[in-house]
Amino acid sequence: MSSCPKIKLNNGNEIPQMGFGVYQIKGDELTEKCVAEALKVGYRHIDTAHYYENERGVGAAIKKSGIPRDQIWVTSKVWVTEFGSGKTKAAIEKMLKRLDMEYIDLVLLHYPYNDYLGAYKELEEEYKKGHIKNIGISNFEDYKFEDLYNKVEIKPVLNQIELHPYFQQREIRKKMDELNCKTEGWAPLGQALTNLFAEDCIKKLSEKYKKTPAQIVLRWHIQSGFITIPKSCKPERIKENFEVFDFELTEDEMKSIDELNGKRSRVQYNWLIMYFALWLLPAPKD
Ligand code: NAD
Repeated sequence: MSSCPKIKLNNGNEIPQMGFGVYQIKGDELTEKCVAEALKVGYRHIDTAHYYENERGVGAAIKKSGIPRDQIWVTSKVWVTEFGSGKTKAAIEKMLKRLDMEYIDLVLLHYPYNDYLGAYKELEEEYKKGHIKNIGISNFEDYKFEDLYNKVEIKPVLNQIELHPYFQQREIRKKMDELNCKTEGWAPLGQALTNLFAEDCIKKLSEKYKKTPAQIVLRWHIQSGFITIPKSCKPERIKENFEVFDFELTEDEMKSIDELNGKRSRVQYNWLIMYFALWLLPAPKD
C-alpha cells in the first residue's frame, strides 16, 4: 500500500498529511490506547491540545511505542486563557512536561481571542529556543488571520480550521494559499453529525472503489491538498481512516464532492464554544 504523503511548509519542514486527532477522547488512559493503535497502523502525526486534557496520554503512547521521537509529528494547542505576556511561555513549559518531550513539532494558538498577538510573540521566543519547531494558528477565519500574519516575524506554517465537504472555507483558504500558509482541516468527517456519508455522490464512489464513505471523504481531503486529522476510538476505524492512499478519485469525482459545499452548515460554532469555554467552563487543568 502506498504511504501517507508529506506536505512542505513555508519554512521547509514537512508534516505528514494525515494525522490522528484526539479531541473528545476522555482521559489519558484511553488516549494512550487510541494513540498506540494509531501508531501501530502507521500514523506518524498526532493532534492534541491542552484543552483536551489528554496530552499525557499522547506522550506516554509515543514513548512506549519505541518509534524514534523524530519520526512522529506532535501538534498541541495553547488555550485562550494562557494568552499574553509571561503566560504563554509558562504554558509551553507545562505543555512540554505534560507531553514529557524536549520539543513540540507544532504549537497552535487554539482560537483568535484574548491577547493572541502577545501569545504569538511568546511562541516566537520558544521557537528560537528550540522548544517549538513550527508555529501555527487555529480558527483564524476572518480579518484576524491577516492581522496576525502581517504583524508577526515568524509566519504561521498553517491555520487549522473546520473543514469538510459541506463547509469548505473557500474565502479564507484563498488568502491562506496566497500567503503560503497551509490548510489543516478539523472535523474532516463533519464529526459524523451530518448526513454526509449518505450523500449520493459519496455512496456512488464508495461502491465504485469498494471503500467506506469515510474513506471517500478523507480521500477528497488528501487530493484537495489539505492536512487532515480524523479522530476515532475504534481500532477498526482508526485503521480504516488511514487506508486511503491506494486509490484516486478522478477530477469529475472530486468536483461532485466539491459541489456539496454550503449544502449544510458548519458543525461547531466558534462563538458558542468561546461563550462556554471562557465564561462558563473552568480553564483546562495543568
Ligand atoms: P471528525 O470529523 O474527525 O469526526 C470524528 C467522529 O467521526 C468520531 O467520533 C466518530 O463518531 C466518527 N468516525 C470516525 N471515523 C469514522 C469512520 N471510519 N466511519 C464512520 N464514522 C467515523 O471530528 P473531530 O474529532 O472533531 O476532528 C478531528 C480532530 O480535529 C480532533 O480530534 C482534534 O484533534 C481536531 N479539532 C480541532 C479543533 C480546533 O478548534 N482546532 C476543533 C475540533 C477538532
